[in-house]
Amino acid sequence: MKIRILGAHSNEAEEKRMVSILVDGTLVLDAGGLTSSLSLSEQQKVRVILLTHHHFDHTRDLVTLGANGALFQTPVDVYALRQTIDIVNSCLLDGKMYADFSKWPSKEKPFLRLNVIEPFQRQNIQGYDVFPVPVQHAVPCLGFQVTSNDGKSLFYTGDTGSGLADCWRQISPHLLITEVSGINKSQDFLKSVGHMSAGLLKEELTQFRQIKGYLPRVVVIHIPPQFQKEVEQEVKEIARELGVGIDIGYEGMKINL
Ligand SMILES: [Zn+2]
Ligand SMILES: [Zn+2]
Repeated sequence: MKIRILGAHSNEAEEKRMVSILVDGTLVLDAGGLTSSLSLSEQQKVRVILLTHHHFDHTRDLVTLGANGALFQTPVDVYALRQTIDIVNSCLLDGKMYADFSKWPSKEKPFLRLNVIEPFQRQNIQGYDVFPVPVQHAVPCLGFQVTSNDGKSLFYTGDTGSGLADCWRQISPHLLITEVSGINKSQDFLKSVGHMSAGLLKEELTQFRQIKGYLPRVVVIHIPPQFQKEVEQEVKEIARELGVGIDIGYEGMKINL
């Protein structure tokens, strides 16, 4: 499994893109910094997009990919919760701001095919075993465990706060991609809006190890560019305390599983 982090941030700035992860060139997790990271021919190879939730930093490039869809012959399947699809449909692909690419070029054969996926509904999608598990965000949000044919798997939490013990019980990934959305000083605020600080992540990883008996490789994304240095420092600190390696994700980062 070849993983490429396209966007590793919660906000956009020069060389910083919103969250998006590419798996083997064909499957995408969240569509924040998707089109700005890929050439047209790379975009053309994308077949599946799994959306964790509807927030703009995770969905915006459905529009820009849709606009390029005129060049592409094959449709893209988007999978998300019913609520995510309803909000994407009514707000982002509303047909007023721009074209509704879920009904374009025709209602019968649209470029973006929106599919509902239910929590815990394991599905084979494009040759991957996809297992959606709810996480703890301000709005309904799914983490996805994606397992390839050779048994290698990653779990991407999307946006989440504390309280992942039930989630950890469901999964056994080789790689965990998760979030830190602010500094330890803002821990209470982050907790209240369903996000993590490094300190909160440490508690969740400690629980993961207690429940599963191991810790996978961990990559942290969804970093606010304005707190890049502080988050890096605080994540480094918890990695030292836990005695594991935790990587800070970045645009263009490649991981082979
Ligand atoms: Zn969010
Ligand atoms: Zn987000």
